[in-house]
Amino acid sequence: MNRVNFYAGADIDRIGDKRRDPDWLQGRISANVARVLPVWRGKSLFAREPDADGVYQIAWLSPEQVEPLIAESSTGAPGTVADALHLLGEREDGVYFTIDLSHHDDPLSAVPGLDAAFTGLRDLGAAVDHTDGAMLSYAKGMAHWHKRHPFCSDCGAPTEVRSSGHTRVCTNADCGVTHFPRTDSAVIMLVHQGDRCILAHNKRNPKPSYSTLAGFVEPGESLEEAVAREVLEEVGVRVGRVAYHSSQPWPFPGNLMLGFHAEALSEEITVDETELVEARWFSRDDVRDAEKLGLQLSRPISISRRLIEDWVNGVV
Ligand SMILES: [Zn+2]
Repeated sequence: MNRVNFYAGADIDRIGDKRRDPDWLQGRISANVARVLPVWRGKSLFAREPDADGVYQIAWLSPEQVEPLIAESSTGAPGTVADALHLLGEREDGVYFTIDLSHHDDPLSAVPGLDAAFTGLRDLGAAVDHTDGAMLSYAKGMAHWHKRHPFCSDCGAPTEVRSSGHTRVCTNADCGVTHFPRTDSAVIMLVHQGDRCILAHNKRNPKPSYSTLAGFVEPGESLEEAVAREVLEEVGVRVGRVAYHSSQPWPFPGNLMLGFHAEALSEEITVDETELVEARWFSRDDVRDAEKLGLQLSRPISISRRLIEDWVNGVV
């Protein structure tokens, strides 16, 4: 049960105490130990071709390569490298930053000689190293939050970046609220009873692929209550015992999936047709033989797949 889910496990010290230390940050940038992970319009920068193992490597940039790209920031004002880079954290081999280059139509034109391309993280799936996937998820989540919060949600005034990208502060002196990066919590659960489990084909998935049920946690609701409500809403089944399994950051665009196994108390399925194409009971053998039966399960890197596989293997 201690296996870390994909998109988690960046193996990085987030050094929260250094986020408000501009001298230290500038020192690391000047010392040439900074590596920059660019994000552009929701995409990440990878080497154009995979390596011999079929893995796409991150195309890191140096602060020098980034500098021409931030001469004019997204607000139109000239910026410095230290202002534009957002701190991810530190490893033994250096300090890691991210930058959102979405304000450029073609940022790579300013980085000559780079054999890299911006690609959707989701498109590459498991063709990314596990630790890199977690770093990319972290950077992508940060960029998404900044993009959504240029203005104060309390008073509407512009916000400014602080703490090396980890907060935004309202510029209205009468307000001055500090905003922190947010993650939207969603529950995801495999509903089971005896030797059977419920899998569903969600409308959002164009392919006939079967996965666990999932939904967002609502205000004033515990995770266990959210599991029970979502299952009842989506398939009309009542659940009893709910057991936590593990969690997974899901950077599409900025969610945290909280995974559970939930024991069904009733059997009859009534599908919510606004969300699902189909949902039905599958036996353990059906799931084990999925490939043979032509049954497409959720992607191997997803927590949905892990909830299914652990249940099949008796890890509940
Ligand atoms: Zn405000």
